[in-house]
Amino acid sequence: MKNHLQKPILGCIADDFTGASDLASFLVNSGLRTLQLNRMQVDSDLELDGYDAIVIALKTRTVDAHTAVEKSLAALHWLQGLGCRKFYFKYCSTFDSTPDGNIGPVIDALLDSLELQSTIVCPALPVNGRTVYMGHLFVGDAPLNESSLKDHPLTPMKDSSVVRLIEAQGKGKAVNIPYYCIEGDEASLRQSLLDAAQKYRYIVLDTLSTTHLERIGRNVEAFTLITGGSGLATNLSSEFTKYGHVPNSSKIAARLPGGPTVILSGSCSTMTQLQVAQYKQKHPALYIDPFKLLNQTQTYKQILDWTVQNKSAAPLIYTTSTKEIVSKVQSEIGFEKSQTLLEGTLAKLARDCIQAGFKNIIVAGGETSGAVVKTLDIHALEIGQSVSPGVPILHSITPPIINLALKSGNFGDHTFFQTALEKLTCQ
Ligand code: ADP
Repeated sequence: MKNHLQKPILGCIADDFTGASDLASFLVNSGLRTLQLNRMQVDSDLELDGYDAIVIALKTRTVDAHTAVEKSLAALHWLQGLGCRKFYFKYCSTFDSTPDGNIGPVIDALLDSLELQSTIVCPALPVNGRTVYMGHLFVGDAPLNESSLKDHPLTPMKDSSVVRLIEAQGKGKAVNIPYYCIEGDEASLRQSLLDAAQKYRYIVLDTLSTTHLERIGRNVEAFTLITGGSGLATNLSSEFTKYGHVPNSSKIAARLPGGPTVILSGSCSTMTQLQVAQYKQKHPALYIDPFKLLNQTQTYKQILDWTVQNKSAAPLIYTTSTKEIVSKVQSEIGFEKSQTLLEGTLAKLARDCIQAGFKNIIVAGGETSGAVVKTLDIHALEIGQSVSPGVPILHSITPPIINLALKSGNFGDHTFFQTALEKLTCQ
């Protein structure tokens, strides 16, 4: 007899792969059984009923606004087709601080398509040091434009005012709801949000703590579209009560531990540099030199052979470099060519590692993770326990059946690789 499982209510659109699993991890931790899909197509034997939330992973973070809008709208329509009734656009917790960034245009397109006037903008993730104070985004104790991210090699952050940024990117006016309003009486907070929605297209919410996120989560029921970082998913249970849906938390996947592990690091963020340095102290590690790879003094075969030889010792293979080296590589080899070369090499290595019997893959880098997952052609991932906030273990539920832990540049502390390894392999 077929179980009468409830259909997913919440449809989420994430602008990159690790952002999707970050969001999915928060949804799982709040008791929602969550499936992450990497393409808008479902194999006939894949059962979607019984999940509370579906997260679609796009690869739109750094593409032009036109392409991002087109892909995000396709995802929205697909999620609507699955029966989702509430929508969540997930972007980076450090936003995108360029006037031609695509977050504003995507929000506008989603609002228009859903025939809505207003949405909330809540990028904060306090557990990772991203907070919003009086409309300004902070990383740790510094405003975004004074933090280490101001010099991010690919997406430099030059302004910290989310109100200014979203107005520059979008077509409407923004307002900030300050922290004392978030902390105040919840009925007043709900009313402030409704009042703001009458006059403003984007409502930027101050968020200094997880408690603030919980309060926000309880009071955004009126918004059919919500937008933000993953933290906004901290407490969305009231959404489900509203639709008479009981979350499927009891069915959240158990992890499948064991088997050889490989770590592939393509991220060049400051935190990843620390993580690589830490892990190298006790494990075999191999640096892929972009120049040597290009002139064939370091060949792919050498890299693969070394990796397989070190199969039992959880080897680390990395392109992670300082920003000086990244600039040199980008100017001498070319931005796109170097990206394709390095992401492609790590992705191919992931595929060949599975052929060689590896069962767990840890990847550092949002774009790098996207390339790995694309090459492995993984369609659907059930979200398991977290390695660190926003980084869950992912169980592929379509072949190849493997476990993954994928993190964007700055996630995790300096022991991240070791922690992920232990979670993936301890019985
Ligand atoms: P993050 O999440 O830290 O931004 P990504 O994987 O998204 O990491 O992006 C890092 C980018 O930097 C990738 O496109 C990768 O190919 C590129 N990259 C990695 N190592 C180097 C290097 N040594 N030189 C130049 N570019 C690099």
